[in-house]
Amino acid sequence: MPELPEVESLRLYLVDQDIIGRTVVDVSADWPGIDNSEDGMGGLSQVRGRRLEGFRRTGKNLIARLDRGVLWMHMGMTGRLAVMYPADGPLKYARVTLYLDDERRIELDDPRRWAGVRYEESETGLLSGLGPDALDAALTADEFVCRVKKRRSPIKAVLMDQSVLAGVGNIYADEALHRAGIRPARRADQISVERLKDLHAAVKTSLLQSLRYIVDHPDERGRPFIIDAYDDRMRLQRKKGSTCPDCKTPLQTRKIGGRTSYFCPRCQT
Ligand SMILES: [Zn+2]
Repeated sequence: MPELPEVESLRLYLVDQDIIGRTVVDVSADWPGIDNSEDGMGGLSQVRGRRLEGFRRTGKNLIARLDRGVLWMHMGMTGRLAVMYPADGPLKYARVTLYLDDERRIELDDPRRWAGVRYEESETGLLSGLGPDALDAALTADEFVCRVKKRRSPIKAVLMDQSVLAGVGNIYADEALHRAGIRPARRADQISVERLKDLHAAVKTSLLQSLRYIVDHPDERGRPFIIDAYDDRMRLQRKKGSTCPDCKTPLQTRKIGGRTSYFCPRCQT
């Protein structure tokens, strides 16, 4: 599933493709489920004639700013974006295509169809309820501690609470907690300020390391390849019988907030 690093790598890729400033001349959507809208594609026809002005990301939300309005995009379970040239055939699961004024096109490819795309007149209120992005430079260690420390829930659940911090999912929460040596079930308000600061650094390191890995392993066309999160860029191998990368103790699992946590009973206290 595309997590924050995958979505950020998509944003970097789009910026790198030199499409900012291009105008969307046409849109098509093959998307059963959004067909009960007036234009048969969830209002996406309003993007015609709009110029792309930039891309920003909060958590897993990708927002294309247009000269009027915005295009909100979420990659769901299997979505990804690709910039295609006239000679390229459409991607196998292209659901939404934006045709640009230089004959290139942006395709959203999504085998499982859980990605979302929506046009909005304004960015205001679009991401209300979301906390600051986990990689936002404005989110200082003190601000992180302040947001987390007043919670009485298990720290793992607090990390995954998108209203506290946007963009940390199950896997990266486990990675960061292991890196910081904190047990996922420990109550957030009972963790010292120093350890929470370590955790903030660990969250950023885990996400940035993964982002670097994705950027360094593009597909043959230079597009970010969505890699299964069970690969060797991760510290914790999320499977039966796996051991701690530091002390080789068998990892334990525990359900927190409905999600399975992997942790080392020795290194994490
Ligand atoms: Zn260990």
